[in-house]
Amino acid sequence: MKTTGNVVKSICRMCHGVCGVNVHMEEGRVVKVTGDPDHPMSRGYICSKGRASPEFLYHPERLQYPLKRAGARGENKWTRISWDEALDTIAERLLSFKNEHGPESVALALGTGRPYMFMSLRFANAFGTPNVVTYAHACYLPRVMASFVTCGMPLPICDFYGFGGVEPACVLVWGCNIEETGSADGMCGHQITRALRRGARSIVVDPRETPRAAKADLWAQVRPGTDAALALAMLNVIVEEKLYDKEFVEKYSAGFDRLVERVKEYPPSRAAEITWVPEETIKEMARLYATTKPACMLWGNGLDQSPNCFQTARALLILRAVTGNIDVPGGDVFWVPPENVFQTSPFVAPENTLLDRITPDVSAKKLGYGESIPLNPGVRHPVFWDAVLKQEPYPVKALLIMGTNPLLTSSDPLKGEEALKALDFSVAIDLFMNPTAQLTDIVLPAASWLEQDDVADLHFIWCVAARQKVVEIGECWDDKKILIELAKRLGLEEFFPWKDLREWCDYVLEDTGLDFEAFKEVGLLQGEMRYRKHETEGFPTASGKFEIACSALESMGFDPIPDYVEPPESPYSTPDLAGEYPLIAITGAKIEPFFHSELRQIASLREKNPDPLVELHPDTARGLSIEEGDWVWIESPRGKIRQRAKLTAGIDPRVVSLQHAWWFPEREPPEYGWKESSASLLLDPRPADAVWGSEPWKGFLCKVYKHS
Ligand code: SF4
Repeated sequence: MKTTGNVVKSICRMCHGVCGVNVHMEEGRVVKVTGDPDHPMSRGYICSKGRASPEFLYHPERLQYPLKRAGARGENKWTRISWDEALDTIAERLLSFKNEHGPESVALALGTGRPYMFMSLRFANAFGTPNVVTYAHACYLPRVMASFVTCGMPLPICDFYGFGGVEPACVLVWGCNIEETGSADGMCGHQITRALRRGARSIVVDPRETPRAAKADLWAQVRPGTDAALALAMLNVIVEEKLYDKEFVEKYSAGFDRLVERVKEYPPSRAAEITWVPEETIKEMARLYATTKPACMLWGNGLDQSPNCFQTARALLILRAVTGNIDVPGGDVFWVPPENVFQTSPFVAPENTLLDRITPDVSAKKLGYGESIPLNPGVRHPVFWDAVLKQEPYPVKALLIMGTNPLLTSSDPLKGEEALKALDFSVAIDLFMNPTAQLTDIVLPAASWLEQDDVADLHFIWCVAARQKVVEIGECWDDKKILIELAKRLGLEEFFPWKDLREWCDYVLEDTGLDFEAFKEVGLLQGEMRYRKHETEGFPTASGKFEIACSALESMGFDPIPDYVEPPESPYSTPDLAGEYPLIAITGAKIEPFFHSELRQIASLREKNPDPLVELHPDTARGLSIEEGDWVWIESPRGKIRQRAKLTAGIDPRVVSLQHAWWFPEREPPEYGWKESSASLLLDPRPADAVWGSEPWKGFLCKVYKHS
C-alpha cells in the first residue's frame, strides 16, 4: 500500500488497534506516526499512545534477543541464547511434559486481545491442552457470549459509520470510556465524539464522571455492580409506558411475556435504592433512550467485571432489542465482514479437523471446568495458581506466557508469584522485561506492530486492513512466527504449514483473489453492509428469534431472564465487613497514556501520569485528613497498596477508583516495585458471576487512610 514518498500507511496496535496511521520514515527509521485523515475507521484520529510508537519501538530497554535464566528464579541473571537453542529447548521440555503427564500439564497464558490470539488458541488445540489462562472471564467475552446465546451472533456494535445513511440520534454509553482512552470492540473512541458533535443526545451510566458523562444529557452515577437493576428498571418503564417496539417484540423476539413479569419486580423506586440513581433519572433515561430513534449503546468492560456480568449484558441486549434498535441504520448493528477473508476469530479454529480435537473429553479436563458455562474458553488465574501449587486435579508443569503480566493484572497475585516459582518450566514472550517474565526460564523478544505484516482484523467489524512491517529491531520476532516455528519443532506442522508470516497472510486472504502484496496496495477490504437481517433470515438461535428468554441458559439450569444479584461484598450483603471497609472500590478504568500494565517506561506517556492515582471525593478526603496528591493506603480484605490521592467531585463519596496494573520499570528487578501499588493485590478472586465466573473487580470493599 500505499507508500507515498517516505510515508507508509498502516494500522496502529498500541491498544486494540483500529486507527489508520501514517508512518513517517527517514533513512530506514520511523521518525513519526500520525493519524491518517483518509482512513475510514479513524478519520485522522491518533492518541498519545499511537504518537509514542517510535519511542516504544526504539526504547533502549526493549528485549532484543532470547534469554535463558542463569541464576535462581528472580535473581535477574540471564544468558543470551540463539533462537534455535531457545525453541529447541522449549520444544523438548514441552514434549517431555506431554509424554509424561499429558498435554493438559502444559498451559498457555494470554493477555488482552492481540493479533496472535487466534493462532495461540490454534496452538493450544493442536498441542491438545484445554488450559488457556486468560481474561475471558473479565473482558469482552462475557458480552460476546451473552450476545451469542441471546441473538446467535457476536456483539452488536454502534453504527457510527452510518453505511445506511442514518447516524445515531441517541448514544447510551454504559461502563465505557473509549472516547477518552482509545479504541475497543472494533470502535475508535473518537467516532463517538464526532457523532455527538453532530447533535446526538447522550446518556452515560458510570460510577465516575467521565468527560462524556460531564457533557451528557443524563448521567446515571450507578453504584458499582448494580447495573442489572438499573437496566431492569429502565425496562420496567419502557414496558409500563408501552415505549417498546411492538412489531419487533411480536415478530422477532421470544419470551417478552416472561420479561414483563420480571421487570414488575424492579420499579424505578426500588432500583433507585439499589443503584443510588435517582428514580426520576431512571425514568428520564428510559424515556430518552426508548423514544429517540435510532439509538445505539456503547458498552465496555465496566460491565464485564461486575458480579452479575452475563445477565447484565443480556439485559442491555434486551434493552436494545425491545426498543427496536437492533440491526437498524444508526442503531446497534451486526456488521457484515468482508467476503472470503478468513477473519481470525479468537474463538474457533478454522478447520474441522481442529474443531474435532476440542472434544468434550478434552474440554472437561480444563482446570476449573464447571465453574462457568462451557462456552467460556479460559481458565481463571486463581484456579491455575491453585492447580500448580497443589498439583491437583492433575500435574501442571509448564506455562507459555504470551503478552501478559498476570502478577499485575489478575487476582491472587501473591499466590501467582508462588506458583510461577513452583512451575517446572515457563517461558515469557514480551517486548520488555517485567515482574512476571522475571520468574520464568526463557524470555523471548516479541515484535511491535511496526515490525509486523498482518491482515488486521478489527473485532468482527466491517473491514480488514493492512498492517505492514517497516523495520526490524534486534532479533525480535512476531509472536505468530514464534508459534509457527515452535509448532514445527513439536511435530504440529500439519496445523502450522506456513513457511513464514507472508504465507500466513496469503492464506488468510486466499479466497479473496489477493495475496498480501496486492492487499497492501488496496489497504482495506470492506463487507457490504446489510441491515435488518432478522427480517429475512431470523436470528441464528434455537428459536430463530431474539431470545429474551434464553433457551440455552434455561437448558443449562440457569434463569432464562436477567435478574439482579447484590455484589458479594457490599454495604448491604456484608454490613459487618463494610463496618471495617466502608468504601466501595472499582479498578481497571483505562487511562489514556497506558494500556493495562504497558507503557510505564515510555517517558512521554509516563509524564502525563507519573504515579498511581486513586480517585476519591473531596468530602471523603476531608474526613480522612487527606489532601490532593497525598500518598494514601488503600486496603481491602486481601491486601494493602499505596497510591496518590486525586480528589474529584465526579465520584460518589462512598466510592473510590484505583488505577490498575502499576509497576515501576525504573526500579530494581525482579519486582520493579509492583507490590507497592498494584491493585491486583486487592482484588476479590471469587467467581461471583454464576454463569460466566467473572470476578467482582468493579465493586469490592476497601478502606483508605493517610500514608504514614
Ligand atoms: S486509540 Fe489505540 S489504535 Fe488508535 S491511535 Fe491510540 S493506541 Fe493506536
